[in-house]
Amino acid sequence: MKIEERFIRYTTFDTQSAEDSQTVPSTSKQLLFAKALKEEMEASGVQDVVMDEQGYIYGTVPSTMDDTVSSGAKAAVGFIAHYDTSPDCSGKDIKARIIRNYDGSDIELSKGIWSTTQQFPELKKHVGEDLIVTDGITLLGADDKAGIAEIMHAMTYLLHHPEIKHPEIRIAFNPDEEIGMGAHHFNVPLFNAEVAYTIDGGDLGELEYENFNAAVAHVSIKGMSVHPGYAKGKMLNAGRIATEFAARMPQDETPETTTGYEGFYHLTGMEGSCEKAKLTYIIRDHDRDKFEVRKAFIENIGKAINEKYGKDICEVTVKDQYYNMLEKIEPVMYIIDTAKAAMLEAGVTPVVQPIRGGTDGAQLSFMGLPCPNLFTGAVNFHGPHEFVSIQVMEKAALTIINICKRIQRN
Ligand SMILES: [Zn+2]
Repeated sequence: MKIEERFIRYTTFDTQSAEDSQTVPSTSKQLLFAKALKEEMEASGVQDVVMDEQGYIYGTVPSTMDDTVSSGAKAAVGFIAHYDTSPDCSGKDIKARIIRNYDGSDIELSKGIWSTTQQFPELKKHVGEDLIVTDGITLLGADDKAGIAEIMHAMTYLLHHPEIKHPEIRIAFNPDEEIGMGAHHFNVPLFNAEVAYTIDGGDLGELEYENFNAAVAHVSIKGMSVHPGYAKGKMLNAGRIATEFAARMPQDETPETTTGYEGFYHLTGMEGSCEKAKLTYIIRDHDRDKFEVRKAFIENIGKAINEKYGKDICEVTVKDQYYNMLEKIEPVMYIIDTAKAAMLEAGVTPVVQPIRGGTDGAQLSFMGLPCPNLFTGAVNFHGPHEFVSIQVMEKAALTIINICKRIQRN
């Protein structure tokens, strides 16, 4: 089966996840796809296929090496992709269409709906390739069904070519990544791999293994309300003091003024009256030391406010949210070197960039499964202008195959 046939079949399933759900998976329709995928895995010869009640599917491609792994030993490498699509855009009745040999012009997705190269200049990088696009109404779901198609394509290839030597490989597909819950119910002990890769990145060559360290700071200020006509020397206006707090924060270390490895403070909420006021900041930095300095900085503003007013009116509570996976990747740097070599062998130039956010892979890394992220080819995802290049998908599958050939068990 061609990789695009596999992918387009996946897109016919509506697997949109939902933020406000109490169930796992968050939407039951995801299980319909999971069941079909499980059957496809079994029919393809993947071994030990298991699907749990929450829709997590695990499977094995056995080692073709002579030194068979003793029972209970960890598989050398895993590959993971998620099958839910973003709640931000409909994933129902997706009408995927292939544009062969794309000529670089604007694309009319359906009557009057255009993907223009002016608005989406990334199209220009794919001239001469075969693009899969939407009808301009739904998303495509290449995030992350392209990742699933690439893993399945690579595993099927390896199963048909037992002469290719590789150690034991584990694969897993999960729901609810788009609502930040993909890693929560992931069974790391059952998966039982030394290291893994999420196949959930963007365009050709993307390789990600650094994300933010993240914390949230809650600032609360207690005021003292007095009739404004008699307030001199008595009133403490919590709302006004909150603006004083905000003014003491660095004005050029915000999401809108930073990029790359630059960290920031982001004011995500404020409310206030004379009686009381609250500010909420999120704190982000790739560097752990700078991250700790940022947390101390915001706490010190609280202390300075209390000193100025001679009372404990300002309280700053800082809570860590997640950490940069780099500290879990660094001890197993061979997985990055292997990925880079695998890409180069596939004719792909690795594009390493820091993630300005968190990922499921970061959570998995801290659950004991070091997990960098590789490209899928999906572009402009979470919206109707999403597209994926068939040639990039083929390169992603080839990269996976090359990793399996090259990976060395520790
Ligand atoms: Zn994704």
